[in-house]
Amino acid sequence: MTTVAIIGAGMAGLTLARHLSTDHKITLFEKSSRPGGRVASRDGTGVVFDHGAQFFTARSPQFQDFLTTLIEAGVVADWHADFVEMEAGHITARRRWTEEFPHYVGVPNMAAIGDHLAQGLDIRYQTRINELSRQNQSWLLTDDDDRQYGPFDRVIVSLPSVQTAQLMPAEFCHHDVISQIPMKPCYALMLGLKQDPRLPFQAALVKQADISWVSVNSSKPQRDGFALLAHSTNKWAGQHLDSDLEKVKQMMIDNVMAVTGISPDLIASADIKRWHYANLPKQAPPGFYDDPSLKLAACGDWCIKGRVEAAFTSARLLAEQLNNGH
Ligand SMILES: Cc1cc2nc3c(=O)[nH]c(=O)nc-3n(C[C@H](O)[C@H](O)[C@H](O)COP(=O)(O)OP(=O)(O)OC[C@H]3O[C@@H](n4cnc5c(N)ncnc54)[C@H](O)[C@@H]3O)c2cc1C
Repeated sequence: MTTVAIIGAGMAGLTLARHLSTDHKITLFEKSSRPGGRVASRDGTGVVFDHGAQFFTARSPQFQDFLTTLIEAGVVADWHADFVEMEAGHITARRRWTEEFPHYVGVPNMAAIGDHLAQGLDIRYQTRINELSRQNQSWLLTDDDDRQYGPFDRVIVSLPSVQTAQLMPAEFCHHDVISQIPMKPCYALMLGLKQDPRLPFQAALVKQADISWVSVNSSKPQRDGFALLAHSTNKWAGQHLDSDLEKVKQMMIDNVMAVTGISPDLIASADIKRWHYANLPKQAPPGFYDDPSLKLAACGDWCIKGRVEAAFTSARLLAEQLNNGH
């Protein structure tokens, strides 16, 4: 039996834990109090906001099969949204998302997916690992409170690239490559509304603005109330990364009002989330990074591209390699 520590219980860490063979005794370490990572939701007053991943598509047969089990478990559903593209305040394209090419969401919220996948796994929550140290042929983990865990035969890091590079020891053979993979920030604005905003869309890709996305979050299946969710562009988030959050929130509200024409009187609540490591452009293969001699590996969306399916695929490919004894 190989003892394995997986650091990070996002989509990649959870997928890996579920795909490794029973020859592995797995412990996951997660800094927050809930699984799922960027597939996340936050409760508002009577409404819920999916402030990370908005929806996801499935292109590979493996991810489609995996989703079938989640759909059957009642954790994932198809979002039939009226989708538009907007430019300079005008709608330039419009289509209805249908089952022909499904756009999936978690139900009753995105965080339900992580909750479901975490069932039965040994996950240490609120445990932020900040050091990996070698002890003979094994690894010891140290958390922020100087508690130690291990020894483990193998450690797999499934954090965003920047955090992976910070945690991995310099001897990790892919360290230099990973250190060169930057991720882009994003702000998510969550607006609770007093009534239906009656917008001519439920999901909008916005161009030529500081907002890149606006959706009526409450139009997703099994959501109550009236909730609007907006994302900034990565560029705008980068320019305002160190700004006061209250100021950022107000600027984002102004931007959303300008793009949608919604009156500020409609707003019942407003919240903001800063994502330091939201997404990144498409990367070259291999899809994961393994150092067999040190028994250290890394996976996550950033090995492929900033998508839920990429996090799944990266973890699945790494699990295949490890299950084959490499
Ligand atoms: C605003 C936003 C919008 C997005 N929209 C979409 C979309 O519409 N469609 C789509 O497909 N994808 C979208 N994505 C991307 C998608 O969410 C990610 O690709 C995917 O969730 C990444 O999963 P992961 O497991 O690789 O990483 P993560 O989800 O980041 O998981 C890493 C986990 O590690 C934990 N962690 C971090 N440091 C430590 C530590 N030191 N010790 C222990 N635990 C630690 C974190 O808390 C987290 O749970 C979006 C992301 C964001 C932020």
